[in-house]
Amino acid sequence: MNTRVFKILSEDDERQLSEVASILRSGGLVGIPTETVYGLAANALDGTAVKRIFEVKGRPQDNPLIVHISRFEELAPLVDVVPEKAARLADAFWPGPLTMVMKRSDAVPDEVSCGLPTVAVRMPSHKIANAIIKAAGLPLAAPSANTSGKPSPTCAAHVLHDMNGKIEGVVDGGNCEVGIESTVITLCTKTPTLLRPGAVTLRQLADTIGDVEVHRSVFSDFTETARPASPGMKYRHYSPKAEVVVVDGALGSFIEYVNKQSAGSAVLCFEGEESSFPDAVVFSFGAKEDSRAQAQRLYSALRKADELKIKRIFARLPDTDGMGTAVCNRLLRAAAFKVVKL
Ligand code: AMP
Ligand code: MG
Repeated sequence: MNTRVFKILSEDDERQLSEVASILRSGGLVGIPTETVYGLAANALDGTAVKRIFEVKGRPQDNPLIVHISRFEELAPLVDVVPEKAARLADAFWPGPLTMVMKRSDAVPDEVSCGLPTVAVRMPSHKIANAIIKAAGLPLAAPSANTSGKPSPTCAAHVLHDMNGKIEGVVDGGNCEVGIESTVITLCTKTPTLLRPGAVTLRQLADTIGDVEVHRSVFSDFTETARPASPGMKYRHYSPKAEVVVVDGALGSFIEYVNKQSAGSAVLCFEGEESSFPDAVVFSFGAKEDSRAQAQRLYSALRKADELKIKRIFARLPDTDGMGTAVCNRLLRAAAFKVVKL
């Protein structure tokens, strides 16, 4: 299959938008930019199209997809009822990097929800994503556009690396602003529960709707055989081929620890620390206190390390405040929860 590349930089590019929309309406798959990561989109109401997403990604059959909408009115037909807290959260954070899990309606095919009685919905703020949903006139099911298990794509080249020849098209909309996947909250538990941290923080959620619990999978290895609340959290995720070792310790001890064994390895450090690792390939992660920059650069650094065939990446443990929770969560998963404490 020839994967067409559409470079769409403005939501006024009606000609290309309508070509992309027609691929989606006829059951095709298109990699699309969003503010979080690139998504692999298909018509969410077409079970056959959605099934192909699982095939091309190699995604486990029990890991449901997020449905993307462009207007709040498109939520009601997908859910049983719109919970009052969903309306408040949408008011505060939509369009934006927040996914809400609610009881689903019969309009949502089993292929999207993987047989769960719930559906995850998000309204992206990326202008091109929004314009594509509008042009298609459909809700779009879209997981991240990577091969399952690999770091999510944050630019069109990453999508092409994993999906070239397997899908109908990729829309190049530049680099993703957030760089990691959306925050996921379920409104189906007695107290709403954070299932996956992201750019919308726990504090922001709690300020909007009151008590929010944090699912234990956020910071721990969660490999129960019983169906977890967010099935995606039980898989090793976001991981490059290289082994990732997260190191928890002061800068001085990190430098000493890494430089003893860094030949042929890479280091993921904070800005300003780059010159301390003469034998390693060095990726800077953003300033220590800048978790937004760290999120933006994390996946491209992990992918670059694979391109360079690096065997091991030593990473500084990021601060866990605010959005740092999300950066830490992704990095720990990439490391399969391997942390060296100095
Ligand atoms: P991805 O789109 O690849 O970032 O993955 C979507 C995330 O949302 C995964 O962690 C899923 O397990 C989670 N998710 C999607 N639908 C549901 C649902 N109905 N209930 C709970 N979690 C969900
Ligand atoms: Mg994913």
